[in-house]
Amino acid sequence: MIKSPRGTRDLLPPDTALWNFVEATVRDVFRAYNFHEIRTPIFESTELFARGVGEETDIVSKEMFTWEDRGRAESDKGQSLTLRPENTAGIVRAYIEHKLWERGLNKFFSIGPMFRRERPQKGRYRQFYQIDAEVIGPASAGSQSPARDAEILELLATLLDRVGITGWTLELNSVGCPADRTKFNEALRNALAPVVDKMCADCQRRAVTNPFRVFDCKVPEDQPIIATLPTIAHFLDDACRAHYKEVKQILNAVEIPYTENPRLVRGLDYYTRTAFEFTHGGLGAQNAILGGGRYDGLSEALGGPPAPGIGFAIGEDRLVLSLPASAESVVRQPDVYIAPLGPGMNREAARLARELRRHDLVVELGDESFRLKKSFEAADKIGSRYILIVGENEVAANAFALKHLASGEQVTIPRAELAQKLLSK
Ligand code: AMP
Repeated sequence: MIKSPRGTRDLLPPDTALWNFVEATVRDVFRAYNFHEIRTPIFESTELFARGVGEETDIVSKEMFTWEDRGRAESDKGQSLTLRPENTAGIVRAYIEHKLWERGLNKFFSIGPMFRRERPQKGRYRQFYQIDAEVIGPASAGSQSPARDAEILELLATLLDRVGITGWTLELNSVGCPADRTKFNEALRNALAPVVDKMCADCQRRAVTNPFRVFDCKVPEDQPIIATLPTIAHFLDDACRAHYKEVKQILNAVEIPYTENPRLVRGLDYYTRTAFEFTHGGLGAQNAILGGGRYDGLSEALGGPPAPGIGFAIGEDRLVLSLPASAESVVRQPDVYIAPLGPGMNREAARLARELRRHDLVVELGDESFRLKKSFEAADKIGSRYILIVGENEVAANAFALKHLASGEQVTIPRAELAQKLLSK
């Protein structure tokens, strides 16, 4: 038997109804905040991620699905391509390529699959889905303002509330600007020197290349050491400190609760200032539903104009896993199973189904070869509310037997009143 590749999965009904509910809700929220959808390719040139995400990150150094194009055209040959592991770089590339600032476009969202070769476990897959949003633009458009950071965080709180997720925690930090980090890295190097040989191999490497990354470490044995390291808060310059303070003050004003986590850093190189994560207790080890932050230098790193930005990526798989049980009410059962009884009845049944579906009713259509008992079994199996019998007598009278399956109550209803009856719950 051929199975789906390791780390991938099929999303099956009825779960797909939950996914659609989440996506429809999220689209509504984005509309209210004037975000516009952007759809970028699922693969990009490898260089985009090497530059945009950072060669040293785990994502780029170990997790990407990369191949060399075998295209016949000279221009394709040997080009290195990669399935996107995240979408901020792709969106910023599109922003630069189409000069979207000239059209006054600066708030984008996208929904789609991402690919990382990670060790699969609950809530961690090799193909997973992200809901991304990015606010990016020239500084003259205010894209650097702490008001944008706070608005993004308030949007996220609204979005989680709207899909019914409670009990989340917003963890917040400021990772400062590159100059702050140079000073901080120096201090970290010194602090790590006497202890690093007790840490994991990745941390030993990070301590040399980019000590800041040590905070990304998830190895439990390393955590007590990490807890003793200095934090970035003491190294922020005045402007970064003021920015962070204003973000927090707006959050207080709009009553969004947050917890400061001075050890929260994001795995990607281009983050500056605000960094955040929303976690949810119900998820177990992979408890981050979403993460994001500000990336003021990214556009320039990709060859574009200065364009400060802030964005986030929600793990849609984890969002769906965090939904309350009540969300299952979005799975819509059929309203009626139409049971044609006897030869020639398929035609009448098809006409009735067409009429009822025009009223936005969910209709399942049987077959005239089924006996009544088999029709009842079929209606039961799909969880239909009603069964409608279409036999010769009913057609002649233009009135049909309609049985409510849960109560067993049966009535005869004139054709013209059927839709109304089925619409009333
Ligand atoms: P990141 O792009 O690493 O900041 O991740 C943003 C969000 O995407 C995380 O908070 C997770 O919810 C989700 N995510 C990241 N990697 C995976 C994965 N391998 N499987 C499922 N969800 C993931």
